[in-house]
Amino acid sequence: MTTTRVVLVGGGYAGVLAANRLSQRSDLDIILVNPRPMFVERIRLHQLVAGNDDAVEDYADILTDRAELVVDSAQRIDVAGHRLRLASGASLGYDHLVYAVGSTAPVPATVPGAAEHAWPLGEWESAQRLAERLAQIPLQAPIVVVGGGLTGIEAASEWAELGRNVTLVTGVLGPSLANDGRRSVTKRLRKLGVSVVENATVSQVAGNRITLRDGTELPSAVTVWTAGFGVPTLATDSGLSTDALGRLLTDETLTSIDDPSIIAAGDAASPSAQPLRMSCQLAMPLASHAADTLLARLDGKEPTYLNPASVGQCISLGRHAGTIQMSHLNDEALPLHIGGRLAATIKESVCKGTLSFLAKEARKPGSYFWPRGGKRQKRYQLHRPPARLRGTQNVATDD
Ligand SMILES: Cc1cc2nc3c(=O)[nH]c(=O)nc-3n(C[C@H](O)[C@H](O)[C@H](O)COP(=O)(O)OP(=O)(O)OC[C@H]3O[C@@H](n4cnc5c(N)ncnc54)[C@H](O)[C@@H]3O)c2cc1C
Repeated sequence: MTTTRVVLVGGGYAGVLAANRLSQRSDLDIILVNPRPMFVERIRLHQLVAGNDDAVEDYADILTDRAELVVDSAQRIDVAGHRLRLASGASLGYDHLVYAVGSTAPVPATVPGAAEHAWPLGEWESAQRLAERLAQIPLQAPIVVVGGGLTGIEAASEWAELGRNVTLVTGVLGPSLANDGRRSVTKRLRKLGVSVVENATVSQVAGNRITLRDGTELPSAVTVWTAGFGVPTLATDSGLSTDALGRLLTDETLTSIDDPSIIAAGDAASPSAQPLRMSCQLAMPLASHAADTLLARLDGKEPTYLNPASVGQCISLGRHAGTIQMSHLNDEALPLHIGGRLAATIKESVCKGTLSFLAKEARKPGSYFWPRGGKRQKRYQLHRPPARLRGTQNVATDD
C-alpha cells in the first residue's frame, strides 16, 4: 500500500487531536514532533507551581498508537523541499504538514528589568523553574502577578489559596469577562486575600520590587509575568506568511496561504488574519477542522470552512471556587455566569474532559464533535489576502 506521510509539529492539545483524527485513514504514516516525551497540560501550569498537579500526561494514554512520536524540536520548514529540519540535525520529509506549535508566554524586552527579574509561567519548563523559586521563599514573601487576564487570575487565586501573599497588577481585570462575571472574580480574589491593583502599568522590575508608571513601588520577592501571549517563530523563520504576532496565516479551511500541503491548528493558526481567542477550548475544534480539511483533500473533496462556536470561559479561582463566564457563539461574553463551588466543579470536569476527548479520539477517530457557530459566527471567507494585508492582524470582515 502506498502511504502518505503527515508530519505534525507540536504535541499539544491541537497536535494530538489532529493526529488522532487523522488515524481514521489506514494509509497515513503519522509522525508527531514534540520537544518533550510527555504531553503538557498547559491549562494546569498554575497548579504545577502550586504543587497540586504535575500538569503532564503520558502520550500512551491520549495519542493514537498509529502515530510515531519524535522527541525533537522543529527548526525550519523547507517548504519547497517538503522537509522539516529538526534541532537534532535530523530531518523529516512530508507530504502534508500540520502546524500546531501553540503559543508562548514571553516576558517583554521593553520593560526595564523584566527580562532579568520577571518569571514567566506559560510553558512547562518555566512553570517548573517558578515552582522551584517559590519553594525557596517564605510563605509570606510578597508575590506580584503581572497581568489580569485569565492566566493571571487563575495563578493569583491558586497561590493565594495556599496562604501566599499575592498582589495582582493589571490594566483591566478580566478584560474578556462581562461585568457580573468580573464582579464574581473580584469578590473571590478579595476573599482569598489577593490585592488587586488596576489601571496600572509596570515600568520597571527589580529583584525585590516593581515600579508602576505613576512611581508607586510594590515589594516583590517574585514577579510573575502573565501579560500577553507570543508564538514560536518557526513559520516566520521558514519564510511562511504570518500575522503580526507570527501565527501562520491561513484561509478558512486552515490551509496556509503559501502552500496547500501545510495546515495549521490551535493557538499558532491565524485564519484570515482573524485568529480565534488563544485557548485550549478553541484549539481542539481548530485541530479537528484541520484534520478534516486534510482528510477531505485526500478523498478528493472540497474542505469546508471553519465555523467553531464558543461556549464560554471557565476560570478556576483556587480549588474551591471558580467563575464560568457564558458567551455568545462568537465568543463575546454574555451577562451570565456561574460562580462559587459549582463553577469549580465544572472547571475541574472540563480539564479532565479535555484529556478524555483526546483519549476518545485516539480510540474512536472521527468521534470528536464540537458545535458549529451558525449564522452569527459567519467568518470572512478568504482564500488569499491581497499582498498589502499580509503580515497584518486585521482585515475587513463582511460579518
Ligand atoms: C496557566 C495557563 C492556564 C490556561 N488555562 C486555560 C483554560 O482554562 N482554558 C483554555 O481554554 N485555555 C487555557 N490556557 C491556554 C491554553 O493552554 C492554550 O491556548 C492551549 O494550550 C493551546 O493549545 P495548542 O495545542 O495550540 O498549543 P500548546 O498546548 O501550547 O502545544 C504546542 C506544543 O508544540 C510544541 N512546540 C512548540 N514549538 C515547537 C517546535 N518548533 N517543534 C516541535 N514542537 C514545538 C510545544 O512545546 C507544545 O508541546 C491556559 C494557558 C496557561 C499558560
